Amino acid sequence: MLEVQNIKKYYKVGETTTKALDDVSVAFRKQEFVAILGPSGSGKTTMLNVIGGLDQYDSGDMIINGKSTKTFKDRDWDAYRNNSIGFVFQNYNLIGHLGIIDNVELGMTLSGVSKEEKREKAENALTRVGLKDHMNKKPTQLSGGQMQRVAIARALANDPDILLCDEPTGALDTETSIQIMDLIKELSNEKLVVMVTHNPELAHKYTDRIIEFDDGKILSDSNPYTEQVQTDQFNLKQTKMTFFTALKLSFNNIRTKKGRTILTSFASSIGIIGIAIVLALSNGFQIQIDQTQSETLAQFPITISSVTIDRSSVGDTEEEETEEYPDTETVTAEQSDQEQIQHINNIDEEYVDYIENIDPGLSNNVGFTRSIGMNLLREVDGEVEPVSFSNAGSNDSSSAITSALSTSTGIGVSTFPTQLDDSNGNFLEDNYSLLEGNYPKSPTDVVLIVDETNTTNIHALENLGFELESGDELNFKDIVGTTIDLVANNDYYTELPTGGFVPNTDYQSIFDNENNQTITVSGILRVKESSTMDLLTPGIAYSNDLTTDIIEQNQNSAIVQAQEDSDINVMTGEPVDETTKGSLMTYLGGESMPSSIMIYPNNFEDKEEVLNYLDEYNEDLAEDDQIVYQDLAGTMTELTGGLMDAITYVLIAFAAISLITSMIMISIITYTSVIERTKEIGVLKALGARKKDVTRVFDAETCILGVTSGTLGVLIAWLVTFPTNYVLYQVTDLENVAQLNPLHAILLIVISTVLTMLGGHIPARMAAKKDAAIALRSE
Ligand code: ADP
Ligand code: MG
Repeated sequence: MLEVQNIKKYYKVGETTTKALDDVSVAFRKQEFVAILGPSGSGKTTMLNVIGGLDQYDSGDMIINGKSTKTFKDRDWDAYRNNSIGFVFQNYNLIGHLGIIDNVELGMTLSGVSKEEKREKAENALTRVGLKDHMNKKPTQLSGGQMQRVAIARALANDPDILLCDEPTGALDTETSIQIMDLIKELSNEKLVVMVTHNPELAHKYTDRIIEFDDGKILSDSNPYTEQVQTDQFNLKQTKMTFFTALKLSFNNIRTKKGRTILTSFASSIGIIGIAIVLALSNGFQIQIDQTQSETLAQFPITISSVTIDRSSVGDTEEEETEEYPDTETVTAEQSDQEQIQHINNIDEEYVDYIENIDPGLSNNVGFTRSIGMNLLREVDGEVEPVSFSNAGSNDSSSAITSALSTSTGIGVSTFPTQLDDSNGNFLEDNYSLLEGNYPKSPTDVVLIVDETNTTNIHALENLGFELESGDELNFKDIVGTTIDLVANNDYYTELPTGGFVPNTDYQSIFDNENNQTITVSGILRVKESSTMDLLTPGIAYSNDLTTDIIEQNQNSAIVQAQEDSDINVMTGEPVDETTKGSLMTYLGGESMPSSIMIYPNNFEDKEEVLNYLDEYNEDLAEDDQIVYQDLAGTMTELTGGLMDAITYVLIAFAAISLITSMIMISIITYTSVIERTKEIGVLKALGARKKDVTRVFDAETCILGVTSGTLGVLIAWLVTFPTNYVLYQVTDLENVAQLNPLHAILLIVISTVLTMLGGHIPARMAAKKDAAIALRSE
């Protein structure tokens, strides 16, 4: 059934090639006990290794069950070793970190036998070799004879056809040797047993056939097999090891060197610790910054003013290289930088419509500013006098700056935003609580805004006709319910015969006009503590609808029409330029387009979408026709975010260096492990493990190391966040700055595992390439 024909096997040592097997031909029966006898170095072990497929012959052929092995691929040899061959070595070659039963099961594990079947077969094999009572021990707890029995049990467990024993009693005392020989003899009743020995006594006593060997040649054969070998089908079951098995194998191995593993894991976790802490800190700082930003900046709306700065063109204005201190006698004329980046936004009806079509789910509040004059009269103590909704004092120059600032930032305005969708919350009700009266119901309802301390601007009240001194207190009831008459231009201004216009000074008679609308101070509102949109300046606030109503009423008034056709100020007679005329028209209610638009996104995230919506408008427009918006909050966020990112990247780069260091370290450790486990590699191969399986064992080991060091690193970093936060709190008053994002933690463990496995993979591949026969000879 097994025939060896003219086998030659060479070994190469340096430059010289030596012959270990020299033209050996021999055939074996299906069942017999063959002894190969010969002096040391005669090629006996080589012969066994070649027969067992552990070492491949260089020329000749081997016929197994009539099938030539010339065409065998690696995996065929692996399967052959696993299915058909059981090896018993002189020095037992048990795997020390595995239990006895695991050692016996190993071959079956490789061929994917089910757990129960494996256990049963292993127990049977161990019972058979008389180790029933020692099954749960470790190899190191056994005597030499017992270890050799385990080795025999391992060789038997998978029920091979051929048992190859290389000096199985070489390391045993005589008595134990006899027991082992008895056992092998018994096995030879059902299998082909080929035993190498240099003990002729044993050979003669136990075996059926003695082949004498010397110098790689057969000297004599006591019972040669000459019958024609019949061909029968030869089928091999492929071996495979699951990653889980590899993990288990490596886990057991790692358990035997806990100290080293912990130290290694700790050392290689330092990189992870570094990165984790950097991430935790930057993450925490970013959260802090974001919080502060959304608290303080959320109220900054997106503003669109008629005159604005085009930030995008700041970089565009290519500075041409101009000579400094030139000798020429020419002067170059150029616009100032400011003028170059100034952009005129042509806010027209189409754009206002576009804005009003913003999805209310993204931004429900839009404010329009129209610097329009209102003709207001109020009866105070029986006397009618002109009043206004302004915060300006009689000699207060700061209010001009404030109002300019408020139109460009959207904060401190007097017009409250328009609701795009009424059912979707109400700006005033959401952000301001009612102290007295009612929230405004109609455009002619105005409200008095007070701050957290119930304080409001003294000029706002003075301009309404209240006589006060700073610090005076006024009862809510005195203010709420105050009515003011709003007079149309046509009733307010009198046309002179010259074509000019003057305000009518007979206030009482205008006041009595039935055309007048009545404006009521409907309530007093105070900004809520929870409000993130404290936009309205203390004083009188009114709705956008009031201003549009006034414009509608006055657009075709006589004074507006006269002003439109005139190059002089129709009230003063002074000549006016285009800009002054424009503001005059706006003031008189002749201009329906807003001077600025403020969009208040519902939150920070929605703002991005609103900005996209605004950008869409500009998409196909020429640069001059585009509408440029300002996003103050965004500009600031970008700045801080960018800075934070930059710092984080630099720190991570440093930490990554230590991660690479640990990767190299792991490579070295794995390499050491490969050297240490050389014998195990040999055993695995003798049992039919594929190259892949051996690689897997070491990949599994580095996988365990990677997961351990990653987890350890994350854990340590997490622990470090507590003292870090304590110190930071003492120093900066910021709470819980260092926060390890669970996602980062998981990611770091994954990175650590992947990097460690990468680092260990090369030594693992080296291990897989190791020659099994040489591996087994090592020690
Ligand atoms: P035995 O088992 O009979 O003592 P071996 O089969 O181990 O003999 O060795 C046969 C010959 O092959 C010896 O000369 C030995 O030095 C040589 N040999 C065995 N293995 C190797 C090897 N891996 N590299 C080089 N020479 C080897
Ligand atoms: Mg030998």
